Amino acid sequence: MSKHDKFADKRRRTRIVRAGVGTDPAYNAVIPPLYMSSTFAIDGLDARGNYEYSRTKNPTRDELADALASLEGGIGAAITSSGMAALTLILHLLGPDDLLLAPYDCYGRSYWLLRALAEKKHFRLKFVDCYDSEAFDRILSEDAPDMVLLETPSNPLMRIADIRNISSKVKDINHAALVVCDNTFLSPMLQAPFLFGADIVYHSTTKFLNGHSDVVGGCVIVHEKQAIMDELHLWNNSLGTIGAPFDAYMTLRGMRTLEVRVHRALENAGEIAAFLEEHDAVERVFYPGLKSHPQYDLAMRQQSGAGAMISFLLKGDVNKFVGALELFSLAQSLGGTESLINHPASMTHVSMGTEAREKAGVVDNLLRLSVGIEHIDDLIEDLEKALATVAQ
Ligand SMILES: *Cc1c(COP(=O)(O)O)cnc(C)c1O
Repeated sequence: MSKHDKFADKRRRTRIVRAGVGTDPAYNAVIPPLYMSSTFAIDGLDARGNYEYSRTKNPTRDELADALASLEGGIGAAITSSGMAALTLILHLLGPDDLLLAPYDCYGRSYWLLRALAEKKHFRLKFVDCYDSEAFDRILSEDAPDMVLLETPSNPLMRIADIRNISSKVKDINHAALVVCDNTFLSPMLQAPFLFGADIVYHSTTKFLNGHSDVVGGCVIVHEKQAIMDELHLWNNSLGTIGAPFDAYMTLRGMRTLEVRVHRALENAGEIAAFLEEHDAVERVFYPGLKSHPQYDLAMRQQSGAGAMISFLLKGDVNKFVGALELFSLAQSLGGTESLINHPASMTHVSMGTEAREKAGVVDNLLRLSVGIEHIDDLIEDLEKALATVAQ
């Protein structure tokens, strides 16, 4: 039994705040200490401990893994050095004959990695439209997938994939197929893919989970299948994609406030989305919490909040607009306490290539906001001032 199981019956917010608290065997430290050591002495050749070498297993990394598994509702988690390392691990579950379906508009770097590995024959790959039920059915009727990757809401246009519907259709065709969900955009606080039939969830913990824009990290969480969890740990140890103990310590520290951060950020985002939608210099707003979002009902059913990410089409000079902002920093990434603005076409989505980017709807006047936890009035004033510089 894990030392965390004593909190298993508590609510998630409590579990995350209490993760590892009061479990230090050495000095009763309230917060579990950081174990930087690369190696651990064993008592004898026939008396092995829990830990021997930190690439294989490390107490601080395990602390974070337990907390993440508990938060997402899985049996365990593999901690990786980045979100991309998490995806790399998952892709090692596939062989050359296996078919992977992935969203045609997925995260730019994921798109690059999937395409490059498929070209090297690591697996077979089809990019699909998983937001259109009929288009998805057609793909399923052609060939049975072994793995389906989902990213919902999608980045940056906030399309919503119906996890329950897709999982059940895919498993009807291939019972052993794995449904994998990138849950980075909402965090475990706002979406629980395991409830809808997903088998594996992964995160770039760089984003909301760490939440302070000072760690790059990732994780893979498994719902029920122990054999899959074991295989992922084996690959993590063999590829060396493991996360560093210091990063694990920082991420767990950041995660303790996940619930309050996520809720303040989504409150702010809701107000900003409504403000932008009314503004003359804005052509269109993409935010699952707006009634104008084409999949508003699905989003409200599947998510427990609309999230803190907003995209919009600007009428006017993008350069001038971002230059006029004071509070929104022009930067990649998302999910930190500070608000950021990103120009996907020239920043996060460059690695897709022009053709795939245009097909995914990442046009030149699209901007993406990661809304932070600053005072809402300051954020709106900042946007108002910058929009005034481009309004005709
Ligand atoms: C950032 C991000 C990734 C990649 O994670 P890194 O930690 O940057 O490697 C993957 N998916 C989504 C949705 C992301 O936002």
